[in-house]
This record gives sequence, C-alpha cells and structure tokens, in this order.
Amino acid sequence: MTKYISTRGGNEKISSAAAIIKGLASNKGLYVPCEIPRLPLTIEEMVGKSYKEVAFIILKSFFDDFSDDELRYCVESAYDDKFEREEIVPIVQAGAVHFIELFHGKTAAFKDIALSILPYLMTTAMKKEGIDKKVCILTATSGDTGKAALEGFADVEGTEIIVFYPHNAVSKIQELQMTTQEGRNTHVFAIKGNFDDAQRGVKSIFTDSEFAKELSQKNILLSSANSINIGRLVPQVAYYVYAYLKLLEEKAVNLGEPMNVVVPTGNFGNILAAYYAKMMGIPIRTFICASNKNKVLSDFFETGIYDANRDFYVTNSPSMDILISSNLERLLFHLNMNVYKDHEKSSEEVAALMADLEKNGKYEVSGDIKKEMGMFVGGFVGPELTLKTIQSMYNKHGYLMDTHTAVAYDVYSEYKKHVCDDFETVIASTASPYKFPASVANAIGIEKMDDDFEYLQEINRVTGVKIPSSFADLKQRPVLHKGVIEKTEMPDAVRESLKK
Ligand SMILES: *Cc1c(COP(=O)(O)O)cnc(C)c1O
Repeated sequence: MTKYISTRGGNEKISSAAAIIKGLASNKGLYVPCEIPRLPLTIEEMVGKSYKEVAFIILKSFFDDFSDDELRYCVESAYDDKFEREEIVPIVQAGAVHFIELFHGKTAAFKDIALSILPYLMTTAMKKEGIDKKVCILTATSGDTGKAALEGFADVEGTEIIVFYPHNAVSKIQELQMTTQEGRNTHVFAIKGNFDDAQRGVKSIFTDSEFAKELSQKNILLSSANSINIGRLVPQVAYYVYAYLKLLEEKAVNLGEPMNVVVPTGNFGNILAAYYAKMMGIPIRTFICASNKNKVLSDFFETGIYDANRDFYVTNSPSMDILISSNLERLLFHLNMNVYKDHEKSSEEVAALMADLEKNGKYEVSGDIKKEMGMFVGGFVGPELTLKTIQSMYNKHGYLMDTHTAVAYDVYSEYKKHVCDDFETVIASTASPYKFPASVANAIGIEKMDDDFEYLQEINRVTGVKIPSSFADLKQRPVLHKGVIEKTEMPDAVRESLKK
C-alpha cells in the first residue's frame, strides 16, 4: 500500500485516508506519498477514456487503501452536472497553444475540480478510519479556494467549514460568492491582512496541540481544504493526464512525444500536480511556472534562492498574490528523493530549508537540487501587460482569458521568444473571465462601470461568452457572513464558530 510521510521527516507512516483527514503533519510538514505511483496502464490503453475514468485511475493509484467502490462513489458524486460541461475540463485551441479549461464547476475556478471531490474523500476516509468525530475544515483563501470549499462542504453531514480571506484583497464577485454562502455549517471571515497572514494563522492553529486538545474534548477534529491536503492535490493530477490523452486523440502529439505545461502559480499546488503526472509516466518536457508581480517563484527557479523578504503587491491576478508557496516544500522533497533516494536524508534537507524560511524568510537549495530543478522554468508579468495580453488574444483569436490565465499565456510567449522549443503546449486556464470582470472589461476596452455585475452583462454582450450560471442570482442573494477580524483573532473565530 502507498504510505504517506511528512516532508519534514519523523516516524509517522500513514494511510492515504489518515493523511486526508489530518491535512497537515504535526511537525508542520506536508504529507507526500513515499513513492509517486506509476500509471497502472500504458498511455495507449488510456486513450479514449472519459475524465471520470481517468480520475478514478489516478485516485486509485495514490489512494490504494480506498476500495474501488468507495472511489467510484467519490468520482461519480463529484463530477456530475455541477459542471457545466459534460467533458468536465474541455480543451480548447487558441493561438499556438491548447488551453485546458478548468473553470466549468460551480465557482468558476479550477479549485472546483479538487474541492468537488474532497468532501467525499474526507467523509469516506473518516468511515474507513472508524473516526466518529465532527471534522472542522479550516481554509485560508486568496479568493477562489474559499468559495469552492464552502460549496463542496456546505451541509455535508459531520463537517463544519471555516474560511478566512484577506479583507479588501479579493474581487467583488469572489467576496460575494463567499459572504452569501448558505449552509448551516458554513463560517466565513475577512481578516485584516493578506493571504500569507491567513495561511500562517491557519497553519499555526493546526499545529497548536493545546487547541487540538480543547477541540478534541468537544469531539472535533481539524482538517484542511487547502492544497496542503494531499486529498486536494491528487485529484488535480487527473487533468494533466487527461490533457495529454486528448492531445494524442487529436493527433496534436504522437505517442511518446512530450508536451509542455504552463501554470499560473500561487501556492504551487496546481503545477505540482503536473509534476506528479510526469512522475506517473506522462511525457512532460518543461514546466513553465508563471507568476505575477509577486515573483518569488520566478526568482527561485532562476537562482535557487527562495526569498520571501520583499514587498507584497495586490495585483489584478489576486489568486496568485502569495509570497509563501506551501507546496514548493513537496517539490523540494521529491527532488531530494531523486538525488538521494532516501526518505530520511531528503526530509532532513527539507526540514533544514523550512527552518531557514521560518527564521530568515529565505533559503537556498544545493547545487544538486538546482540541477534537478532544470525542468522548471519561471517567468513573471506585471498587471498592465496582463491586460494587454487579454486584449491581443481576444482580438487575434477571439478567445477570452481571465487575468491568471493571461499571466500564464504571456509568460509562455516570453519563453518562446528565448527558447527554441516547438513542443505542443498546454496552458492551465484557471478561472472564468467573469470571475475578474472589472479587469477583463478594462482589457477589452469596455468603459468603466459602477459595479461588477454591470461588467458581466456588458462583457457578455460584447463577446457572447456565456456567463457562469452560478453567477446569475449572486447580486440578489443576502449577505450572510459579515465578520471582519484581526489576524490574531483567528483562533477565537474558530471557537465561536464551533459553539453554534
Ligand atoms: C488558486 C489559483 C491559482 C494558483 O494556484 P496554485 O495551485 O495555488 O498555484 C491560479 N489561478 C487561479 C484563478 C486560482 O484560483
């Protein structure tokens, strides 16, 4: 069976069900599989499979303590008509690339793919492990995870869901999506701080053993819906595998011929899933990691130095406004494994780097790891160019991108200018353009309007692109969550929420 261990070492070796329930290891490390499994079928055997079939195969490979029936139940429950497209993740060609559209779920961002299935994985895992407690999902969000987690967990028996988002740093649409959330087990707070503050606060609640004891007396267990949870990450591997199969079907690549992957990156979860797909056997040549003005990752891939001591910018691609990219820790673990082939040595290396990060806000990886990182290329783009890119793509190819996807497209265009590389390229299209309507409208020359909802109508009128149906009544819905708190008040907010 595939066992899960902490990136920061220790003796703990647990099942995937246990790792999904716990979310974060008690030494603050992230759970990783001891080995990344290989695909159980050849790529030829997989061509033609539906998204759900691919998802099942991937989940079964990583979560092999779940039975086939359990995983089928999870997959069938997650990927149903909640998604507006039957193929779940349509692949669209525009310009010289393919976009894999990950935003046709309920909240119009890619987080829906994993967060539609996580509640089923979590409740199934609880049953498997014989845990008869209530699970409280704590979530820090830069805007998109929060809503997708609320949507996934609302009214799920045996769970409470608490979301913290940065006050005044998400789009109006994103904020309303969260603050109008219904469901008796949902709790939403704006914190006076940025996403990193929210994430730090959540991690510190997680690793506070006194707090855990206090909750345990009330028969409550904490878990996470952030991409630090392995149950969030693994479902995302499926769409990179699926994308390659589709390219083969369309004859855009020949069997064995590699593709490049471009991902607009924040917490490094989405691009890490692509790396897992490669480790499973999908031929991926280069991982292009696209950042906005908060270009800590782009600098990292250039220099091997991760340095979070820098100004934080609020940009027009807010879901990537992050300086501490949690899932990079998992990549570092796997790269160390490639070098040392030894769990203990690899986790020691990771623990040392993370200690540096906590103490000095920065670290530098070794020469060996810099070599291993070679398949990753970073790049960044500022807010003005992001808008220009939306405009030129729309004008030239009639394809409307959101700001995050535009960051990815622009970074890829820059890469192409400098590198002679004709491999087929798939860009992760992470949000609907309607999720960031003010920026998108501005990019395509729509005049300034009073509120985001007017932009929705106007973008629709000008482009004909369908508005996500979940946005239809957003404006009329009552605001149910109004709390704005200091970041130091997060533990109390959790206590209060769990009283009710
Ligand atoms: C979350 C998010 C990202 C960043 O994804 P990570 O997995 O955190 O790297 C990019 N774009 C959008 C629209 C998002 O919601």
